[in-house]
Amino acid sequence: MNKQDISSIKQLLSTKQKIVIVPHKNPDGDAIGSTLGLYHYLNKSSHTVNVIVPNDYPSFLKWIPGNDTILKHDSQTKVCNELINDADIIFTLDFNAFHRTGNMEPILAESKATKIMIDHHQAPDNYAKYTYSDVSMSSTCEMVYNFITMLGDTDLIDTNIATCLYVGIMTDTGSFRFSSTTSTTHKIIAKLIEKGAKNNEIHNNVYDTNSYERLQLLGCALTNLKVIPESRTAYITLSQNELQKYDYKKGDTEGVVNYGLSLDGVVLAAIFIEDRNEGIIKISLRSKGNFSVNEMSRAHFEGGGHTNAAGGKSYLSLEKTVEKFISILPTYNKVLNNE
Ligand code: 5GP
Ligand code: MN
Repeated sequence: MNKQDISSIKQLLSTKQKIVIVPHKNPDGDAIGSTLGLYHYLNKSSHTVNVIVPNDYPSFLKWIPGNDTILKHDSQTKVCNELINDADIIFTLDFNAFHRTGNMEPILAESKATKIMIDHHQAPDNYAKYTYSDVSMSSTCEMVYNFITMLGDTDLIDTNIATCLYVGIMTDTGSFRFSSTTSTTHKIIAKLIEKGAKNNEIHNNVYDTNSYERLQLLGCALTNLKVIPESRTAYITLSQNELQKYDYKKGDTEGVVNYGLSLDGVVLAAIFIEDRNEGIIKISLRSKGNFSVNEMSRAHFEGGGHTNAAGGKSYLSLEKTVEKFISILPTYNKVLNNE
């Protein structure tokens, strides 16, 4: 974000504003952490601030400071729409295009509020008056930290803000192991710990609150794991029946795709999850090295994301989706085998 934009935003925020903060649909740790981190920061001034999420999120994120103030657009549509229509400023966090908010797309697109985007996904849309987009960033939480710093307010970061931002950096970097984790990321994490983020507690709250059924579901996913050695690829399927058998709750499949990538020699991993409610197969793709799952997802699965982590969907059956995936792999064999 350039100096001109920062000073304009500073000017804008120097008077009381009605502010709405929105993350993407099916919000993850980075989406919830960044919106609540920004919420606590903006609340330090006299603004009216509301976080509106498109829909529900996993219970392992529901302890984060400010969680109880979050409004859900799908179940509180009227009040959310009123707040959006009435907003002076809408911050859109951790997504690059309005369609990523699902049913919130039209109301956001029509809103006359000043939009400010903070996001690290590839190919950002051009809807915002102020766009802070940086695909090299580990997480939107790292960018919110930078945003607060650029506004000259690092000193305002307190335990609540630090805790929120820590969550998103931790979850989006796979606990600081993905290649997006830089020395700067670690320096920011160090600052957040100094500001009161309790790293051990946060990790426990997010990762060590599994139900027995969730681990059984993981067992089922690992049993279903298949490897295609010639494409250095592993994939997992989970049918709706399997999800039901293990009492699936939102977030239960988070991170499961990474097990495929942990196999020696594998550079591309996928998970295909049947969602009969939405009538789609949800797809998560992960890779190592330069193989871009963002491009693969854009080309074949109506999605996108980052070079090494992307999402997508398919309207075919689970079996046909896997068939399609297997059929396109040979076109990538050369680059997959060069990784
Ligand atoms: P996941 O597989 O965890 O759903 O998504 C992996 C990454 O890709 C996340 O950063 C997520 O926000 C992003 N992502 C998931 N689906 C889409 C999509 O349809 N479009 C774009 N641009 N990014 C996506
Ligand atoms: Mn993110």
